[in-house]
Amino acid sequence: KRKRDEDELAKLEKAVQEFDPANKKLFADLPLTRQTAAALDKSHFKELTDIQRKAIPLALKGRDVLGAAKTGSGKTLAFLTPVLENLYRKQWTDMDGVGALVISPTRELATQIFEVLRKIGREHTFSAGLVIGGKKLQDEQAALHRMNIVVCTPGRLLQHMDQTVGLNFENLQMLVLDEADRILDMGFKATLDAIISNLPRERQTLLFSATQTKSVSDLARLSLKEPEYVSVHETA
Ligand code: ADP
Ligand code: MG
Repeated sequence: KRKRDEDELAKLEKAVQEFDPANKKLFADLPLTRQTAAALDKSHFKELTDIQRKAIPLALKGRDVLGAAKTGSGKTLAFLTPVLENLYRKQWTDMDGVGALVISPTRELATQIFEVLRKIGREHTFSAGLVIGGKKLQDEQAALHRMNIVVCTPGRLLQHMDQTVGLNFENLQMLVLDEADRILDMGFKATLDAIISNLPRERQTLLFSATQTKSVSDLARLSLKEPEYVSVHETA
């Protein structure tokens, strides 16, 4: 059984690295685990949106991605699909701690991301948690130690980094900055810098934004490594 799982994992890894995105239009065309594929299918996500079609294959291959696409274009699945897949292919377990961190500007948006994660992650065994404040710090602190995927707001995350004993992100594989333009507009630049300074340099970073501003490209320059730029704005 063990051997067969390893063979399947190696086959999937090969399919990801050799994947050619040309003319691929469906989630079913992507090299995904059956867990993610089944959940996407049950949730009636069949056709890829433009940003998903361009960003997911690169992110699956481990590249850093800077994605710009307007609101409503499907950015959430563009990053959550690779988060689940990449941790799975690394055989991430409970013992490995926080493997992916998704930072969102507001509690409401973080909650929406978490709901989508619960839906498309339901056939995986990862533990996921929402860290957005609004409840006792101690309750979040206890739960954080068991989380593999953390969806959070910047202020609350930094509060935990400062106050939660034993919390470390040294195993972190993936950082997602969603709505980066809005995070910066809300005055979280210093908070983000402090958060990122607590994360391992060796990681994959996906940065999504509705607009391409100077402050977003400054942030990208500091937080991404040789990123692939993916933009689906109507104007080139
Ligand atoms: P964004 O973050 O770019 O504003 P969302 O990820 O919130 O966009 O997605 C916007 C809407 O589109 C959501 O209702 C979502 O369920 C839907 N959606 C996303 N991807 C797909 C898809 N591939 N097929 C159908 N609907 C999708
Ligand atoms: Mg969004």
